[in-house]
Amino acid sequence: MKPETQVVHAGDRNKPGTYTPVTVPIFAAASYTYDTMEELDRVFAGEQAGPSYARHDNPTTLAFEDLVNTLENGGGAIGCASGMSALHLAIVAALMDRRRHVIVASAIYGATSNLLNNVLDPLGIPSTPIDITDLAAIEAACERDKPGAIVMETISNPLLRVGAIDEIAKIARKHNAAVIVDNTFATPLLVRPIELGAHYSVHSATKYLSGHGDVLAGIVISNTDEFPQRKSISKTIGGIIGPFEAYLAMRGVKTLALRVERQCANAAKLADWLVKHPRVDRVHSTYDPAHPDAATIARLFPKGRQGAILSFELKGAKQPEVFEFMDRLKMIVRATSLGDVHTMTLYPAMSSHRDVAPKQRERLGIKDNLIRISAGIEAIEDIVADFEQALAG
Ligand SMILES: *Cc1c(COP(=O)(O)O)cnc(C)c1O
Repeated sequence: MKPETQVVHAGDRNKPGTYTPVTVPIFAAASYTYDTMEELDRVFAGEQAGPSYARHDNPTTLAFEDLVNTLENGGGAIGCASGMSALHLAIVAALMDRRRHVIVASAIYGATSNLLNNVLDPLGIPSTPIDITDLAAIEAACERDKPGAIVMETISNPLLRVGAIDEIAKIARKHNAAVIVDNTFATPLLVRPIELGAHYSVHSATKYLSGHGDVLAGIVISNTDEFPQRKSISKTIGGIIGPFEAYLAMRGVKTLALRVERQCANAAKLADWLVKHPRVDRVHSTYDPAHPDAATIARLFPKGRQGAILSFELKGAKQPEVFEFMDRLKMIVRATSLGDVHTMTLYPAMSSHRDVAPKQRERLGIKDNLIRISAGIEAIEDIVADFEQALAG
């Protein structure tokens, strides 16, 4: 062969020997060839397992999907380019053959609210916000609006309310609505929504699953009734995870149990410490025995592993005092996102709820002195010491 041909073909498509890589490698190939056309035809027909084209299947992505699907006890999973593309896919898939109306938890991630209000509503899919902890209100909304889907989060942001997924799923099934649970804050190690009757569990894998702040990714896990027939939707829309991101996310999941255990312990200890601090007005924590949803939390979460996000109100503070306090933090990272190995703080009024009108923020209970914390895996002594010096300043 001539060099201009060799540069294209040499080294590629050699058959591997009998070795097996210990961890799944990054398959960057866009397409796959087979020994015969007959085989390729069977792959296209879905009669033989194997990848054909990277938008449909990718071995690295499949491994990540298999991993998270196993943890969620689902019927199948689809890795997505981001948490938002995962939510979009789940809602579109759920509403393919259901009524085009959504009931959504009023306390929901800002971009999810934007997706419903600014993308799906103009396309003819209206949504109604509802207090997700009020089962009677959900039942009434189902009677009135006849929704095709109920969209909720396992733990709401930033006030950490917890809806009864199992009870909500019973109501939804009576009304032929799908339940879509954004399980990002809980991870499948704490709560498995599909086991509780949900149709879809969705993650921003950017957060706990990846855990190191270096990947943007998402995943949708569906129950066996919804999957695999809806897989074709993701093949068509194409907002799927790339092999590099799937590799990193999978690497992250391997330490998920260790990280979440430490993060939960740190969140519980930090909440205990903050409650006693004279400059702290109120702590919102899933470990608080007086939490308004304590009974639901006790039923759905393993004891002592009730999430690793908390928030607190800085006594008498307005935005300038909150900024001063947050600027004084030395180790704890001021940034959006959560679930990373490092402890992070965020000011919801400036970030996640920036686009919510102040009056509406107040109605949601998100005050101007509220600060959200995502507990990391550092030694609790160092986390507390940083808060202590910043609160003293
Ligand atoms: C971050 C986040 C999302 C969006 O995920 P991206 O990966 O940023 O697209 C959705 N839901 C929750 C609860 C989140 O925290």
